[in-house]
Amino acid sequence: MKKMNRRTFTATFTLGIGLAASMPSACAVTESKSEKQLGIALVGLGSYSEYQLAPSLQETNHCRLAGIVTGTPAKEKKWAEKYNIPAANIYNYDNFDTIADNKDIDIVYVVLPNSMHADFCIRAAKAGKHVICEKPMAVSVAECDAIMEACEKAGVKLSVGYRLHSEPYTQELMRIVKEKTYGEVRYVTAEAAYISRGNPNQWRLDRKLSGGGALMNMGVYSIQSAIYGSGMNPIAVAAQEFSTRPDYFKETDETITAQFEFPNGAVGNIFTSHNVNVNRHYSNFDKGWVELSPANNYGPLSGRTSDGTVLKFSHQRQQGLQMDDFSKHIMQGTPNVAPGEMGKRDMIIVEAIYQSIQEGGKKISLDLGTMGIV
Ligand code: NAD
Repeated sequence: MKKMNRRTFTATFTLGIGLAASMPSACAVTESKSEKQLGIALVGLGSYSEYQLAPSLQETNHCRLAGIVTGTPAKEKKWAEKYNIPAANIYNYDNFDTIADNKDIDIVYVVLPNSMHADFCIRAAKAGKHVICEKPMAVSVAECDAIMEACEKAGVKLSVGYRLHSEPYTQELMRIVKEKTYGEVRYVTAEAAYISRGNPNQWRLDRKLSGGGALMNMGVYSIQSAIYGSGMNPIAVAAQEFSTRPDYFKETDETITAQFEFPNGAVGNIFTSHNVNVNRHYSNFDKGWVELSPANNYGPLSGRTSDGTVLKFSHQRQQGLQMDDFSKHIMQGTPNVAPGEMGKRDMIIVEAIYQSIQEGGKKISLDLGTMGIV
């Protein structure tokens, strides 16, 4: 008998908030494993690969953990044993390009420090493998262009590790925005931040490896959320930076706020920091509002709307849903929910935010059209 994995969707309940919150999940829809599961090789076996991606790949229907690429020999044995990975599917950073000859590997997932994304994504594309690039896509718009060009030239698919696009609470927010359930959007606020302490030599505090601080890390979620929570790209941005721990954040930004102007006159406010724990989204429309809180952690998320609806979806690992979505895009031609163009658009906004800060908070115009809107 075919092994069944659950991909469960649950109806939203339009009831009193207290009552709805206690309702059980409903309307379960199951999705079975596909005949062929695409082989994924994870490049970089740090905390995200170890605690999120590899466990998620044990639950996926359309892809599987088939290989690893690591610069740390000690991790090879540990991962090989834990996940039953054959020696032929284990690579290091030097012999990585020979992955081109490995038929077990269909997708290379780059999970390295930000400034290494471009190099490994381009090498993966040249090896003829489809590519998932972790967020932020790269450390500059120019690098995003280089990745997209390499994938285009090689005829391989490219996706950014934007797990929330496959996450049901976020998808419900996007549906409400798209269908104008509460009318035109007027205001969005998007906050994504956590407190960073500990090792002062970690790569996220090293500008050469990270490309920037809170903005490059959690800030990308705020940008994303302001866009899918309004359904539009901003036409202008102004930004401010705040610093209270300069001894720790020597090279990278600690806290950034930015204001977005949208084409319909709506305004957005984003907040990101490595010195505050906050995780929330709010979209305000002509006739109501939607709030997700939390809005961007690994879940389960939580949400409610102005008419008393408590959003309720059963939880599955977001990363598994994300990798399955990309695999279906490759195998079945379903939409790419987080294409490279989206990652590049976000990097254009990141660069505009840094430019605004450098120019004393000046409003920077953007000409994005519908770039990266899915
Ligand atoms: P990490 O520090 O835990 O792991 C980084 C990995 O890169 C390690 O295996 C390390 O050995 C390897 N590495 C290779 N060269 C290195 C170098 N010069 N310096 C430091 N490490 C080096 O980081 P992480 O949290 O796993 O993040 C990796 C990527 O994943 C980042 O781009 C990050 O933004 C992204 N990420 C995304 C999410 C998400 O929710 N989508 C969550 C966490 C991390």
